[in-house]
Amino acid sequence: MDLKKEIAALQPELIELRRDFHRHPEIGTREFRTAQVIEDYLKGLGLDVRRCLETGVIGVLKGGKPGKTLTLRSDIDALPVEEMTGLPFRSENPGVMHACGHDGHMSVMLIVAKILTAHRDEIPGTVVFLFQTNEEDAGAEDMIRAGALENPTPDAILGMHLWSYLPSGSIGIIPGPIMASSYYFKLTITGKGGHGGAPHTCINPIDCAVHVWEAFQAFHTLENNSLHPTTVTVGKFQAGQYNIVIPDTCVMEGSVRCLHNDDEKVRNRLREMIDGVCKTYRCTYELEFKCGNTLLDNDEKMAEMIRETGAEVLGKDNVITKEVGVMIGEDFAEFTRRVPGAFYFFGVADEKKGTNFEHHNARFNIDEDVLPDVVEMQVSLAKKYLGF
Ligand SMILES: [Zn+2]
Ligand SMILES: [Zn+2]
Repeated sequence: MDLKKEIAALQPELIELRRDFHRHPEIGTREFRTAQVIEDYLKGLGLDVRRCLETGVIGVLKGGKPGKTLTLRSDIDALPVEEMTGLPFRSENPGVMHACGHDGHMSVMLIVAKILTAHRDEIPGTVVFLFQTNEEDAGAEDMIRAGALENPTPDAILGMHLWSYLPSGSIGIIPGPIMASSYYFKLTITGKGGHGGAPHTCINPIDCAVHVWEAFQAFHTLENNSLHPTTVTVGKFQAGQYNIVIPDTCVMEGSVRCLHNDDEKVRNRLREMIDGVCKTYRCTYELEFKCGNTLLDNDEKMAEMIRETGAEVLGKDNVITKEVGVMIGEDFAEFTRRVPGAFYFFGVADEKKGTNFEHHNARFNIDEDVLPDVVEMQVSLAKKYLGF
């Protein structure tokens, strides 16, 4: 196949799809229009298409020859952000925006499906196009429970994220941990409220909470192996209503993220520290941890295949293999816990084009000019894995 030529012919459609998705962003689990567009497109190609949960869509392309099964995954949800890009194709859904690039993921994957379908007879094996709902709120696990990895069960899975932390046209790939596990915590410390003028008759939970916060800082420097990236951040710290009233409770909420496998140890140690501080201050506490995402740990062979393919498609100078890992979570981890898989970043940052804003920023935009290269990467990976 003359892949570059085929992609060039589909470029207008690729951009049109991306802009259509961008114009109509929908929040996780409620991607009704989005899922319909995807379903209709895949059915139009003649694939075997089914819904998984209400808005997840799975299309199966059976090749003309026997072989392995590869799943390609795209997320489909948007965010509750009021778009401020001023783009002519900006969101028409107030307060909702594709501020993470999932509009790009979907359009790339549909074009990849179209190209591979045109070569159906040459394909040894099966390609599954998995359009996943609700990535921003860790929806992968729900889709897996609803059968996303069955009928057929893949031998491998690949995921990709357009990435404004890397320059346009480059990819970032490493074997092993690439995106952190994230656990969200809520700590409620209870003391004994009373008169601000008689603190000795009260137990002020704020004093205790401040020392818990200090213990978190000490954890960073004293408890944690600096070569095992771990972050503990407090995003919410609330207590009290009035200047002369000592409150009963103080609430702290935040996240604990690990780019390594010792996350349980980290949580246990934090619990011990909180317990010790609360005892010292005669407070009681309630601590809840909720799993956001588990560690996204790239399979070595699959990561090597991405690195190699990247060097062939984009040139080896455009393959970044250092400082690629991030403390951000990604629910693609739930797939790679069950199936050998890997996840890579495709850079979209170009300052001149204004595509270097942070993900989830109201001005976030992707560099559309790289999308044909992303398609080429994805098709090339499918070819390499299945062997045609
Ligand atoms: Zn996101
Ligand atoms: Zn995202």
